Amino acid sequence: MFVRRRSPYPRATMPKLGVLAIALFAAAVGLLLLAGVSQQHVTPGPDTQRRWTVVVDAGHGGHDPGAVVDGVQEKDIALSLALRVAAYADAYPELEVLLTRASDRYVELVDRVRLAEAVGADLYLSVHANANAAPSICGVETWVHSAVARSNPSWALAEAVQAAVVRATGAPDRGVLQQQLYLRHTYLPAALVEVGYMTCPAELPRLLDTAYQERIARGIVDGLLAYLRTHG
Ligand SMILES: [Zn+2]
Repeated sequence: MFVRRRSPYPRATMPKLGVLAIALFAAAVGLLLLAGVSQQHVTPGPDTQRRWTVVVDAGHGGHDPGAVVDGVQEKDIALSLALRVAAYADAYPELEVLLTRASDRYVELVDRVRLAEAVGADLYLSVHANANAAPSICGVETWVHSAVARSNPSWALAEAVQAAVVRATGAPDRGVLQQQLYLRHTYLPAALVEVGYMTCPAELPRLLDTAYQERIARGIVDGLLAYLRTHG
């Protein structure tokens, strides 16, 4: 049953409130327009400057921790690195970095590459940390899907990222490798960088170290730019 509530305001004040609401609305619109205009005058919109859009994916997340070594979860390293990549890329107006996740949540794998396609990204890069039963295995490797030919841009992307991360970190270079990956679900140039082995006793503390993470992030951005400047 609908019960009509009586207006709490005397009838005479209603038009005044209406006028006040309109005035406030107009003022708000005016402020927004002013903000937009002044921003345009101070700096050109970032969209007009940016040449490349890349999607960087922090591997795993939410209910999927990835590798877990000594209580350290791969998903946390991956997220920290992706956020650092986005922050580092701010220094490059020609490069816009979008993340598939910026918090500890799980995104379906196919949705990650679909997002990259939906925003018209120039490439897709997934960031992971590795694990192996053999603690002697250490270093950086970058993966492309097994069906990717050497002439495919994904291979060039993987090589550029691999070289730049190795250069930035000084970590052992394990090269570009191939296996069945969900990256097969996208037509975009796509690669997956494994920035180090959590099971390597020398690498785990480094992977958690802020300065080392910054070096990895710098390497990733350098690799993305190197690829884009020749293929973008
Ligand atoms: Zn992983």
